[in-house]
Amino acid sequence: MVDERAERIRKFIRPLRVEPGTTVTLPADFDPRYKAHILKKKDGVALLRTGIELLADYQRRLAAQDTYGVLVCLQALDAGGKDGIIRHVMSGVNPQGVQVNSFKVPSAEELDHDYLWRYACRLPARGNIGIFNRSHYEEVLVVRVHPENLDRQKLPPEAKRKGVWNRRYNEINEWERYLTDNGYRLVKLFLNISREEQRARFLKRIDVPERNWKFSAADVREREHWDEYQHAFSKMLSATSTRWAPWYVIPADRKWFARICAGAVLAHTLIDIDPRYPTVSAEERRALGAVARRLESEAPEGAPADPYAMSIASAEAGSGKPKKAQKSERAGKTENA
Ligand code: ATP
Ligand code: MG
Repeated sequence: MVDERAERIRKFIRPLRVEPGTTVTLPADFDPRYKAHILKKKDGVALLRTGIELLADYQRRLAAQDTYGVLVCLQALDAGGKDGIIRHVMSGVNPQGVQVNSFKVPSAEELDHDYLWRYACRLPARGNIGIFNRSHYEEVLVVRVHPENLDRQKLPPEAKRKGVWNRRYNEINEWERYLTDNGYRLVKLFLNISREEQRARFLKRIDVPERNWKFSAADVREREHWDEYQHAFSKMLSATSTRWAPWYVIPADRKWFARICAGAVLAHTLIDIDPRYPTVSAEERRALGAVARRLESEAPEGAPADPYAMSIASAEAGSGKPKKAQKSERAGKTENA
């Protein structure tokens, strides 16, 4: 059942994956309006709900196992829908296990360090899901489109010489390989919107008063560099989609479809990790049994020795079906009233 579900998800996300070693040219290679076989938004919403439940279950196991961490890198042009992805896809998970970090123009302190420093400082702990709202990839996107950013980075001349972008791609690939070797899994999502859809979303931000706060004249100025960004994204996708950390290009013109795709890629990663609840040894189980007997002996007059075990037993008796009763496994279990 799980394998079947995993296989369905794998097939669904395959067309979004940038195969390592291939050359991507945007906008030709990925259609922002692609929506697979899902024809209606209503079917998509049901699918997203199922995906969110699945993510919540896997996140609990990821946290309990405390061995692997997941880093989601979200990249998009302005109005690409990063905030909506975070809000919807993560809506079912325990907030304690998820940290969102948004990366803006670097501060003076950040510029005083190597360019990967600020990202390394905000990596999630094991057992957690970290979301980078913009990520280390800005270092080969906005910095490439506006090279004056490179001058602000206080680099020695040799670090700025010809070939800087290829060097950065290699450095990023190596950093991600190091993270993978150390138990991190990267989920790299590029939300691919069309120029026309961005125009429509900017206008909506102007037309709807409640959205005015989202509008930024700087975003419209940045739009003038559309072709340069498409070029920078194409180079980035081609050079940094690796076996250990592949890129997924999410068709983002339809927000509802983008959310399903992002959820599916994250679910695929978690299924692949297959985190398990830690099991206890026979000796630990015996020790738990001894503690349980002591707690049962403290039951006040008239109270069941073990209220939980009693509720399980009466539910079983009521439905005639055995319930998942972790309790019955316990060694040295005493009979309940
Ligand atoms: P939203 O507009 O939805 O709140 P946002 O991610 O666009 O989210 P902004 O504060 O509008 O956030 O913009 C952040 C800006 O910081 C972007 O223009 C981005 O290109 C810029 N930025 C991010 N990283 C770097 C970097 N390393 N060097 C220079 N600029 C950067
Ligand atoms: Mg912005």
